[in-house]
Amino acid sequence: MNHHLESDERGIILPCPACGTANRIAYAKAALQGRCGACKADLPHVSLPVEMSGVEAFAALVSQSLLPIVIDFWAAWCGPCQMMAPEFAKAAVQASGDALFVKVNTDEQPQIAGQFRIQGIPAFALIRSGKLVAQTSGFQPAARLLEWMRQG
Ligand SMILES: [Zn+2]
Repeated sequence: MNHHLESDERGIILPCPACGTANRIAYAKAALQGRCGACKADLPHVSLPVEMSGVEAFAALVSQSLLPIVIDFWAAWCGPCQMMAPEFAKAAVQASGDALFVKVNTDEQPQIAGQFRIQGIPAFALIRSGKLVAQTSGFQPAARLLEWMRQG
């Protein structure tokens, strides 16, 4: 069972729940409900956190997404980040269709983390219309993260 979705510079890779075919959802269309290219079944809204594969994918996401973007900066060695992962995933499900929840591994993507001057992790950033509007850090339950997102 996947706990996150992959991405590339052209969009989010979303497996069809009916036939398993990997569909690519362009970042600009993440708010819409798509259809599987293979079996034509309706695809669900993106409701899992999307792992950012690199700076190109991240730049495409930020410039193209019509939905607010909530970023979780994390690393495999970080205990509080592991505790945060299921809360972040829960928040992603609850905000499905209203926001995109993405994860940036600070060890693998130091260039992205550098753009946000991340000091400690877990850390979070909120982007609306391509602009950084809020940042916070430290473990927080899903409900608190969603409240932060809606106020930001
Ligand atoms: Zn399908």
